[in-house]
Order: sequence, then structure tokens, then C-alpha cells
Amino acid sequence: MLKKITFNYIQISCSIIFGFIIGYFIFSDDRSVIEKKPLKKGTICLVIDDYGFIFNDMVRNFIELNSNFTVAIIPSSPYAKIISDYADSLNNEIIIHMPMESYELENTNYEIELHEKLNADLVEQKIKMAFEEIPMAIGLNNHQGSKSMENLQLMKNLARSLKKRDKFFLDSYTNPASKGYITMRQFGVPTQLRQVFLDHVEDINKIKYNLDSLINLSHDMDIAVGIAHVKPMTLQVLKTEIPKLEKEGYEFIRLSKAVK
Ligand SMILES: [Zn+2]
Repeated sequence: MLKKITFNYIQISCSIIFGFIIGYFIFSDDRSVIEKKPLKKGTICLVIDDYGFIFNDMVRNFIELNSNFTVAIIPSSPYAKIISDYADSLNNEIIIHMPMESYELENTNYEIELHEKLNADLVEQKIKMAFEEIPMAIGLNNHQGSKSMENLQLMKNLARSLKKRDKFFLDSYTNPASKGYITMRQFGVPTQLRQVFLDHVEDINKIKYNLDSLINLSHDMDIAVGIAHVKPMTLQVLKTEIPKLEKEGYEFIRLSKAVK
């Protein structure tokens, strides 16, 4: 009788212990038991500029590539509206890529453009037009603008118009004398500074080299910010390199999370 009770006791105890072991593997939150997550190596923010003049498979593939990449659209460009709708449907962040006056002569005339001769009212009017055309845009960065960006008065007027709308600003940093970043900080507009352009030269090796520079910067900075453009060669590089980098432990974050 005593033997039977002891045997049952041992049997029940074993069942409970076995149950705990099985339960641990099934319900454990510790994912390392199942898969090992790589340690975070660096945080990167990537913005893709110059959307608006074409809308084809290449553009669609770019937008579909990674929903953390920001879509920067030139206002009053032919496909601004359709591209912003497409990017929005895929939950990408959208910003206005505002044409600004440059020292270099550009052949394109933009309906919505900022230059140093505009007073505060006219700057406000252009900004209003841009955000009315692309209402889902949550911020703005400059297209070109080597001349405009060093004009303090223009930057102050821009900062006021952005602050009023609760929008952020990315200084594309097309001129080392740019007053964009510092003015936005003074006016309390969340901002960031571009560190690397990936594809000013259309050459696969050069783009890879620039991407490496951005990655290396991310080792020393909280967030490394890069700008690339809607170009087939850039798409080709990003399509192969970004998934590899993510697997290695690099994190790509949205611009709204990078501005301060
Ligand atoms: Zn641009």
C-alpha cells in the first residue's frame, strides 16, 4: 500500500517537472532559446530624394524597398500627388523636397521654390502651397539650395512657417555654410543634418563606398543620416546591401525618430 502511494507520488512529481520543462520551451519569452538576435551595431536613417518626375516600376520598387526610408517629393512635380498616395498606402514617411535657389545654374524651373528675394509672407505662401498639395508630408528638406541655405532671414522665415505647422526639417547640407540646422534649433523646429550623399556619382562601387562611410559613421554617432536619390543604380545597391546590413544588426529608423 505504502509502496503504491510512494510510486504514485513519484509519478505525479515527474509529470509536474516534465510539464514545467515543456512549458518553458513553449511559452518562454526568451527568444534566444529559439533564435539568436544580432547585437545592434548602428542606427541609420535614409532619405530618398527627388521623387516626382517619373512614376514607373523603379519608383514603385524604391518605395516598396523599406518602409523606414523617407520619401522626399518635389512639390508641383507631375507625379507628386500619385507618388505621395502610393507611399502613404505603404506607410512610408513623406516629406516635401523643397527646391531652393542654388549658386549652380539649374535648368528646371519650379513652380514652388524658395529664394532669398522672398519676404516672410511669400515664404509662408510657398510652404502653404506645398503642404496643401502633399498634406501627408510631415516635414521638409531642401533640394539644391546652396545659396538659399546660407541666407539667415530666409531660414528664419522658413522656420516660422514650419513651426506653425508642427513640421520638422532635414538640412540636406548642400553648403557647409548652411544656416538651416542652427536656425531650426533656435526656433524649436525638430531637425537633423545629412551626413552622407550616397549617389552623387552614378557608379556602383562609389555608391557602395559611400554606403560604407555611412555605416562607419553610425558606429560613432547616435544616428547617421544619409540621402540617396531615385536612380536605378542606387536601387540596385540598396536592394542587395540593406537586407544584409539588417541581418548584421544595423537598424534603419524613420526620419521622424531621428530629428531632435
Ligand atoms: Zn534633390
